[in-house]
Order: sequence, then structure tokens, then C-alpha cells
Amino acid sequence: MEVFWHDACLAHDTGAGLWELPGRWEWLDEPEPHPENAARLRTFRHALAHGPVAPHLSWSTGRFADDEELARVHAPSYLARLRTACERRTVVEANTVVGPGSWDAVRAAAGTALAAYEAVAAGRTRLAYALVRPPGHHAQPTAADGYCLVNNAALVAETARRAGRRVAVLDWDVHHGNGTQEVFRDTDDVLTVSVHMRHGPWGANHAQTGAPAESGASNINVELSLGAGDGAYRRALAEIAFPALAEFGADFLVCASGFDGSAFDPNGRHNLTAAGYRDIGRAVSGLGLPTVLTQEGGYLRGYSALCLHALVEGLLGLDLLDDPLAYVPDDTQLVDVDLARARSTLTAWGFAAEPRTEPRWRPRPPPAEQRRSNGPTGRGGRGPA
Ligand SMILES: [Zn+2]
Repeated sequence: MEVFWHDACLAHDTGAGLWELPGRWEWLDEPEPHPENAARLRTFRHALAHGPVAPHLSWSTGRFADDEELARVHAPSYLARLRTACERRTVVEANTVVGPGSWDAVRAAAGTALAAYEAVAAGRTRLAYALVRPPGHHAQPTAADGYCLVNNAALVAETARRAGRRVAVLDWDVHHGNGTQEVFRDTDDVLTVSVHMRHGPWGANHAQTGAPAESGASNINVELSLGAGDGAYRRALAEIAFPALAEFGADFLVCASGFDGSAFDPNGRHNLTAAGYRDIGRAVSGLGLPTVLTQEGGYLRGYSALCLHALVEGLLGLDLLDDPLAYVPDDTQLVDVDLARARSTLTAWGFAAEPRTEPRWRPRPPPAEQRRSNGPTGRGGRGPA
């Protein structure tokens, strides 16, 4: 598996304020760094470069995207406005801040995601992770939203679509992938699936609800109740996302990979653990598809880094790091209702019409050499359960 990185992603300075809200708050003694900050991405990099999974990864330097590439998913007028806004510190919407350095970061995040795509498309690796910021999945063709400026996952998907691939985007960031939904709203040949918490619309730049009612022929929203955890995500993938991918006939997968669904994330109300992300990685890898992952949310940086490490373990069929923090029990009482609600709107889909007792999808075991491999400080691979 290749990890793609570009130093310019660190140049995007989001400042400080009241958590995600920039500016001065007179009653606040000590402003807080904006949650989407460079230290977060550096911590993610360090975890993969120095954690027990490190020997299993190779690293590649990304590149800058050019104007034509960015315009594949955004209006040129929006990109021009954004570029101008980046000349000085500007709040482009409620909690989305840019400044000098941000335009380079935007182009680096998009170009590095494309570099990851190019490696997979060329057959150099089946799995490529674009470890980039700013994140992208809320960015719409003509609007920034929720820390997101350019939609990196959508750009990869559109590029793959133009190359003749049948592309699916799977988004497990805890927030609805509304930007990706908008980019492909009128594009039947890209499937978008978002699994997220029920948070509804927010602000002028986020009118989408994320509800199952917004699902359609090529967009599926699986909205889970607050408190949903590892089990809910496992079932959402096995019972809805993966059958949809199979019925759609996806031959290329783009994953919008966020860790703000963790039990400790300040921006999410879901209850995933590192083990849950390991399961997601194992399940996604088991699909056997060429896959590009783009970094989205995840804001308690230490635990997010652990979750990233665990996800990558899962992708590689490994089980290395212990989770010293997980203790909140998984609450699964609302999952049946949530999944039934998500399926009820999928009237055009054959899989959703079938009576269901058991998930049809089962993870494929990883190659034997990966099951046996050991990290330098880990417990050694145990393979899938
Ligand atoms: Zn998020």
C-alpha cells in the first residue's frame, strides 16, 4: 500500500478561536487551535511512519493539481473566488478559514489525491492513501463548506470516470458527504454512498440533509442515530453499501476516510473505536477493488491517528496496535430502525427489495504473507476474525 503526502498541505493555516469558529471571543481566556490544523496531519503521518504498520507501507510525494484538473468538479468562477480569498486571512464561510498558504495546500491536496489515483490506475498498487488536508467531502461545485475547499475524493472519482472506470465513492466520515453528493447529483454512472450521523443541514453552504430521502438511483445516504458505533458501521457496509457496490458493478473505489466517528471526537456523536476502523479497513480491502482513499475528518488528533493506523492495519489484513482508550459500550439498539429507513428509499435497487436475514457480504481473507507479518513493536498479525 502506498501513502501519498505533500508538505504544502501543512501551509494551510486555519488560526484559532472558539473551537472551529475563528476570531476573538472576549470571554474566552485561551483561544483554541482550529480543529482542522497542520499538527493533526503531521500526527497522522508520524503514526503511519513510526507505528508498527510502518514496514508495510511505502511513501510517495504527491504533486500540485492544475486549473484544468480542479475544474473537473468545481466551477472556474468558484475557483477564481477561492484563489483570491486565499491572498489574505478570510473566513469563506462560518468555520472555513483560508489565508496565504491555503491555495498551495488546496492544490497539493487535490494533486496528491490524483497522484494516488495515478498509482492505482497504473497498477503500481491496489490501495493508495492520500494523506492530505484540507479535507474535501463537503466542498460543492460552487461552494466551500465545513473546512472543505476542493473535493479531493470527487476529483479522483471524476478522473477515474473519465478514464472509463465504473466508480463508487464510499464515505465513512461521520458527517454527510454532501459535496460529493452534489458533484455527482446528475451523474448516474458514479455511485455515492455516505454513512454518517443524523446531523441535518447546517448554514447557508450546507443545505443538504443527508437523510435517506436524498438517496436516489446513484446516491445512497445511510444516516445513523447518534451513538451508533462499530456494529452499526459494520452492518451499514455489509447490508447496504457493499450490496449496492455489487449491484452497481463498481470496478473502482474511492473512499472518503474520516475518523470523526470515533467515540472521542469533538465533532462527532458516534461511537467508533480503533477496532471498528480496523474492521472497516478489512472489509473494504476484502472487496478486492482498486481503491484510493482520501483523508477527510478526525479531530481528536491522537485518537484519530490511532484510528488511522488501525484502518490501515485492516486494509493490509493486520492487527497490531492495542487501543488503550476504548471503553464505551457499543449501542446497537437503533441500528435496525436506521438501516430499515435507509433501505426504504432505495426502491430502484434490487438488493434493497430482498428480505434480509444475514449480511450477504463476508470479508475475503488477506494474503497469507500478510497474516503472518509482524510489525517492529506490534503484537503481530492475527488476520481477520
Ligand atoms: Zn467530518
